[in-house]
Amino acid sequence: YKHAESKAKEYENKESPSILKRGGPKNLPIATHLIDERDFDINKPRLVILGSGWGAISVIKGLEKDKYHITVISPQNYFLFTPLLPSATVGTLETRSLLEPVRSLIKGISAHFLEAKATDICFNDKLIELSPVDESSEPFYVPYDKLVIAVGSLSNTFGIEGMEYCHFLKTINDARKIRKKIMDNFEKASLPTTPPKERKSLLSFVVCGGGPTGVEFAAELYDFLTEDVVRYFPSILRNEVQVSIIQGQDHILNTYDAKISDFAEKKFRRDNINVVTNARVQKIEPNHIIYKMKKSEDVKELDYGLVLWSTGIDMNPLTKTISEKLEDQKNTRALITDNRLRLKGVSDSSVYAIGDCSTIENPKLVQQLMQFFIDADKDKNGRLSYNEFQALAKKIGRRYPITKSYLKKADTLFARYDQDKSGTLELEELRTMFEDIDKKLTSLPATAQVAYQQGKYLGKKLNQIATAQKTKIFPPPSDYSVNTDNPESDVDDLLPPFSYAHFGSLAYIGNAAVADFGTGWTWMGGLPAVYLWRSVYFSEQVSFRTRALLALDWSKRCLFGRDISKF
Ligand code: FAD
Repeated sequence: YKHAESKAKEYENKESPSILKRGGPKNLPIATHLIDERDFDINKPRLVILGSGWGAISVIKGLEKDKYHITVISPQNYFLFTPLLPSATVGTLETRSLLEPVRSLIKGISAHFLEAKATDICFNDKLIELSPVDESSEPFYVPYDKLVIAVGSLSNTFGIEGMEYCHFLKTINDARKIRKKIMDNFEKASLPTTPPKERKSLLSFVVCGGGPTGVEFAAELYDFLTEDVVRYFPSILRNEVQVSIIQGQDHILNTYDAKISDFAEKKFRRDNINVVTNARVQKIEPNHIIYKMKKSEDVKELDYGLVLWSTGIDMNPLTKTISEKLEDQKNTRALITDNRLRLKGVSDSSVYAIGDCSTIENPKLVQQLMQFFIDADKDKNGRLSYNEFQALAKKIGRRYPITKSYLKKADTLFARYDQDKSGTLELEELRTMFEDIDKKLTSLPATAQVAYQQGKYLGKKLNQIATAQKTKIFPPPSDYSVNTDNPESDVDDLLPPFSYAHFGSLAYIGNAAVADFGTGWTWMGGLPAVYLWRSVYFSEQVSFRTRALLALDWSKRCLFGRDISKF
């Protein structure tokens, strides 16, 4: 006790953080004081986790106490349960029911939390450059021995003009803004002074992208219209409100089994949701959206009162900076890692990337894919017609599901790579096409399921590495200089690589839900499927508190309907 007391006194007398030592490439303050100096084990390595989403939280949950000095850094001081975010856009669930404070999640492992955004990483000095959320505070560095990058992604806008008029659905603030905008539109449309043309626009809701997020948002909107709008807005008729989905591919939910896409499309048509497939958005104007039908090349316009943009993912500024900095990074959508989730281009095993911001390198995939086509070229003329390609792609995709996304993309790009427009591709053209696709696609889908499994694997591995290294010396915490003889890499090489197990994909489609279990087994249905969908997400909650809040929200909605007050 006496020892602890004197340590605590020593700690109190330390220099205040405001006179931190400066250093690093930009001569910024270096936050060495983050190491818990009341902890006597100064030899523990410093582990920094960037992000507080699915990947980061899963690492945190798997870490054992006292193995590392842990710091979690994120501009959001909460974890967001994204799969239920569409329900928050119309008030089925309250926004706070989807959030869990990071500080309550890290309490058990005595970690620090910093509300800041990582803007750069100096891999040579092992320093992370941080910009506090409060912009009046000075940027600073945090040193690390081990770093986990789990910073997620941004929405992919494909460079289309007019994104400033769109809503996105990634963060809790996005959901809040959408909820407010929906209510604004209904209230304004109800005013007797609103001209009919404007009223029609206000009541037109357009979703660009027919993936799970877009589909679930449309479904929630449909529920809101049929359950609450008809009840509370007597001046608005149901058929005055139009919900449209504009999808680039030939089906919505096109990553799911074809039976599911078909079921969802039929259900949406019955519900009067306007599904436009094979259409590419060209431009978004302040009041209307311009899109082109892929087959007929017809250009069409659609007025809107709210447009949601939800078409895939892109790198965020930090991952772009890292990718440009490291030579081995050539994917334009995510950071490349090896199959042990170590960042490519960093020579030791000190940096890992997981979740939406990463993709696992699969150097042999294009080679293997090409081999199928070369073997199938029986007449050895080195060319492949589109029909031959389609027939082969179907067979290969069925046998090797990992190639499916490459083949689907190749199918849409076939004509673009057919230089002489002969309707055939030379095998070399086919190879170039697959190599280009490889630079843009991520090896695993960008889902919470992938991020969570990667985080779980990494948490366990970091514990094992720390145990194995316990007797070896890491740089003392007061010194941010680098330990160049990286003793950990050997341990990491001995541990098994990451492998992903797919447990299926769920989607809510408006008083009905669908489940694709990946092996050709699917489940589609009404209320029983909705209860399955709810119970899966209920059980996956990170705390009992959010579980209770969800149960309350669902019961509240059932008894009193959604809260339609605007604030
Ligand atoms: P995220 O969970 O996005 O977390 C990223 C974290 O990094 C955030 O805390 C962010 O604040 C932080 N961050 C960002 N930049 C920085 C920085 N510079 N420095 C420090 N921290 C930073 N997946 C499913 O499996 N099933 C579903 O049903 C499903 N539904 C979805 C519905 C919606 C509306 C959305 C948007 C996504 C859905 N997903 C679903 C996908 C899933 O949410 C993502 O794949 C998952 O969140 C990825 O986890 P992550 O940890 O990589 O990133």
